[in-house]
Amino acid sequence: MRWKGQLNGVQDELVQAASSNATLRDANKHLQLELATASAELSKAKRELDLAHAELEEKKRVPVGQASHKPENTWDKSYKEATLGGIHWRWGYMAPTNKIWNVRPFCDYCDHEMDLDSADIDFDGPTAFLTCPCCGKVADLPLLTAESNINRITSEIERRIRIDVWRDDLNANAQRVSDIFNSVERRRPVKIANAS
Ligand SMILES: [Zn+2]
Repeated sequence: MRWKGQLNGVQDELVQAASSNATLRDANKHLQLELATASAELSKAKRELDLAHAELEEKKRVPVGQASHKPENTWDKSYKEATLGGIHWRWGYMAPTNKIWNVRPFCDYCDHEMDLDSADIDFDGPTAFLTCPCCGKVADLPLLTAESNINRITSEIERRIRIDVWRDDLNANAQRVSDIFNSVERRRPVKIANAS
C-alpha cells in the first residue's frame, strides 16, 4: 500500500507543476502584452518628440513678428542718385562711415545741376522752388533753406536704404535716363546765365 501513497504524492506534484507552468505561461503572455503596449507608447512618444523638435526649429527660424521671406539688405554704394519729390538728387558716401554727403539737386527734365542757394521763395505755394538754369523748368523744394532741404533729402535716402527699397530707385533712374535721352530738353541749346 505504501507505493500507492507515493504515487498519489507524485501525481499531486505533477498536477501542481502543470498548474504553476500554466501560471508561468499566463504571466509570460501578460508580460509580452505589456511590453508590446509599452513599445507602442514609446513609438508614439518618439513621434510627438520629433514633432515638437520640428516646431521648435520652425520657431527658431522665424522669430515672432518677422516676415519669413525678409531678404538680406543688399545695399551697396552704387546707389548714389534718385528722383525724390520731383527733383533728381545725387550724393556721395564719406569713408569710412558711409555717411551721406555732397547732396546736390539736378533738373529732372534735362539733368542740369541746380543751385540750392539760388532757390526762390514761393509766396503762393508752401515753401520754395528751383528754376533749372538750362531748360527753365521749375521744381518745388520741400523746405525753405538749402541746409534744411539737404537734411530732409539725406533722411529720406537713409530711410530708403534702411527699409531696402533703394533698389527700386535704380530702375526709376534707368527709366529717367531713357526719358531724358528721348526728350526735347536734351537738345535745347544751353542758356548761359546773364551776369546782371
Ligand atoms: Zn532742366
